[in-house]
Amino acid sequence: MTVYLVGAGPGDPGLLTRRGAELLGRADVVLFDRLVDPRLLDLAPEDALCIDVGKRPGQLSHQDEINGLLLEHSRLGRTVVRLKGGDPFVFGRGGEEAEVLLSAGIAFEIVPGVTSAFAAPAAAGVPVTHRGLSSSVTVVSGHAGDPDAPGAVDWPALARTGGTIVILMGMASRVEIARRLVDAGRSPDTPVVVVHRGTTAGQASVRTTLAGLVDVELGPPCTIVIGPVAALDLHDAARGALSGTRVVVTRARAQGAPLVSALIEAGAEVIELPVIAVADPPDGGAALRTEAARADTYDWIVLTSANAVDRFVGLLRDGRALGRARLAVVGEATARALALRRLVADLVPDVETADGLVQAMPEAPSGAGASGRVLFPRAAGARDVVAPGLRDKGWEVTEVAAYRTVAARRDPGGLDPGVGDAELDMVSSADVITFTSPSTVTCYVELARQRAAPPVVACIGPVTADAARLAGFHVDVVADEHSVEGLVAALSAHFGADPAPPT
Ligand code: SAH
Repeated sequence: MTVYLVGAGPGDPGLLTRRGAELLGRADVVLFDRLVDPRLLDLAPEDALCIDVGKRPGQLSHQDEINGLLLEHSRLGRTVVRLKGGDPFVFGRGGEEAEVLLSAGIAFEIVPGVTSAFAAPAAAGVPVTHRGLSSSVTVVSGHAGDPDAPGAVDWPALARTGGTIVILMGMASRVEIARRLVDAGRSPDTPVVVVHRGTTAGQASVRTTLAGLVDVELGPPCTIVIGPVAALDLHDAARGALSGTRVVVTRARAQGAPLVSALIEAGAEVIELPVIAVADPPDGGAALRTEAARADTYDWIVLTSANAVDRFVGLLRDGRALGRARLAVVGEATARALALRRLVADLVPDVETADGLVQAMPEAPSGAGASGRVLFPRAAGARDVVAPGLRDKGWEVTEVAAYRTVAARRDPGGLDPGVGDAELDMVSSADVITFTSPSTVTCYVELARQRAAPPVVACIGPVTADAARLAGFHVDVVADEHSVEGLVAALSAHFGADPAPPT
């Protein structure tokens, strides 16, 4: 119905706007550029059509094809997101696309993005304006074109204007650009910084001068910043101990989320490899259905995972089917899973472990007529301390298999929901693989088979580390504190303490 020209930001997927994320979430079709991070496409519905319209050098008439796709899909009544690097109206040809839509009478909206023109310098510690150094900034295209064409850059005038010059697409003509600016009076000693893939894990920057620009060898995409501000380096060296490190998280997507955010916070680039899938229990869920139908005959229902919540609550007609049964969960994440289904946990232990849950549960009522019954829907075959612990407290515990964890399906074609070859290739090229339970180890091995694992193996605790060693891994990092924070701290220490490679 409508076409949205959405700025994807400079590279870091966290720099997409909320409006952009919301629109991606309901797109039927996404036309995306080459520089767009593939993780942003995960925000689109699973059945959305995602088309790579990235321009490769030498594809000149390509813009016509993109325009054609925009018209075609929007005329079919689809919600089309045109996802463009940085800001759509800064050298993105977004203006041309808007013109095409306007003359075709198709509804459209522009969603601005964070432009690399400002974000790439910032990521390298360079403010484009700075009190006392520069009070103006000019963003220009360095693309070599006809110097007389309307809109072409007047380099001598630019040199005289002063202030900061930010050049996009300028690396191929950097020699010419430096010469023109020096000819027009800028000093050859003027500070310059070249930022490659700013805001991404692959960011690199080179500090030089106008005279030295010729010697900078960085591949595209690069932003060139010229002016006194380029001598500044305002970044906090203490932040981001894991910056530039590519870390694999092997949990199921939703369950890995806290680890993913903690790693990103520490500067890492995260590769999510959901090695575990959730399947029906061996009896197909028959026992769980029976118990769910008489849920109101229990005093407590104990849930220790979001999967158990989803499986169990999914079988209830509505909240009234619980009668007076109370709900105990193992931690906040499980409580949130309940809250999503509009149920409030009656008990969340302070210590968010199975032991903590057993401790926090009351003793079973004693005396004649006291029932003291607990229903515990759980993963099939898992070792567990909850049921024995509650029995010690006098409860009559009914354990029922709610689901089973299995290795994710191997899907060489890369179609959801399996794990594809492309994902496994990304994993092989990562720096670290993290394991957060013995089953993440076994499921990963089953999926990856003989592929080389990343050089550093990190485990959340000793039980998982033993499982990894048993599977033939050399374990480099084991968290002292067996939590997401503990794992990230151990990894930060490992990489922070790494001696610099010999030069
Ligand atoms: N609309 C985009 C710019 C498109 S032109 C924006 O607002 O950012 C593409 C040019 O942008 C590249 O040639 C490069 O000069 C610059 N660029 C894009 N992403 C970049 C990044 N992550 N780091 C440095 N420069 C980048």
